[in-house]
Amino acid sequence: MDIKHGFVDTIGNTPLIRLNSFSDETGCEILGKAEFLNPGGSVKDRAALYIIEDAERQGLLKPGGTVVEGTAGNTGIGLAHICNAKGYKCLIIIPETQSQEKIDLLRTLGAEVRTVPAVPYKDPNNYVRLSGRIASEMENAVWANQFDNLANRRAHYETTAAEIWAQTDGKVDVWTTATGTGGTYAGVALYLKEKNPQIKCVLADPMGSALYSYVKTGETVSEGSSVTEGIGNSRVTANMQGAPADDAIQIDDREALRVLYQLLEKDGLFLGGSVGINVGAAVALAKQMGPGHTIVTILCDGGSRYQSKLFNREWLATKGLLPDSESC
Ligand code: PMP
Repeated sequence: MDIKHGFVDTIGNTPLIRLNSFSDETGCEILGKAEFLNPGGSVKDRAALYIIEDAERQGLLKPGGTVVEGTAGNTGIGLAHICNAKGYKCLIIIPETQSQEKIDLLRTLGAEVRTVPAVPYKDPNNYVRLSGRIASEMENAVWANQFDNLANRRAHYETTAAEIWAQTDGKVDVWTTATGTGGTYAGVALYLKEKNPQIKCVLADPMGSALYSYVKTGETVSEGSSVTEGIGNSRVTANMQGAPADDAIQIDDREALRVLYQLLEKDGLFLGGSVGINVGAAVALAKQMGPGHTIVTILCDGGSRYQSKLFNREWLATKGLLPDSESC
């Protein structure tokens, strides 16, 4: 018998998919870890589980307790599912700029959702800082604190990275992904470098994020903006501290959308915006390095979470981002 014990037991062990059209074009093996197949629909299920189980082990989260978090959506969705499965309440603070699909789903899952204006981290009313303050003022509540809680990157070190290593028999040349909290990038980079220091770790960044300049120059400077959600940062989080980065690469929205639409039309994969940055970076690295390399990245979530934006002609036109494709 091979039976999973509920929601929590089905997180992880996702397939690693050869992205055929881009692999054939570049002569590299471009492999995407299918995190959109997690039961909550994103890579963040792994971090949500580790954060909740870490709080349980420490005795911080007790029966009937509430998990509070500031999130661009996916962590909240993972937390809300796990809270239902384990009998906790869930309170989510989310910037109002995030897709309506994610906000609606959080409410469907029974989370209490507070949408707040999107203001920078230095503002005390930033969604992350607000969520910490709210948690500290509540009885029997814990703050998930995904940006600086190292249980997040431990999830990826112990599970995502170990799976990638096993699935490729250790034959990885390059690891690249964009970062929100940095948990995925850092956890996998730390593990792969320990196994083989020759593996090149490259941080992928959308425009408007400060991490590209941080890797290149040591300073957090940002320019431009991006329509992608859940990635990019103005600061180096605890999860990113000490993460190996041999290089960084910036991908703009036009290229990210071209990649997303090609994955949809040529590979049959309907994926979210951050995947356009990740696979865009993998393709750029394949072209830089030449054929014969194996490049691994993350397929963070599915496209249906962004249907009203990235796959909607009218919305894209308002952003000046209408692609050549007929699909939207
Ligand atoms: N892509 C999407 C769609 C996300 O929601 C997130 C998390 N906010 C990421 C990528 C980045 O993952 P991490 O927080 O592990 O850096």
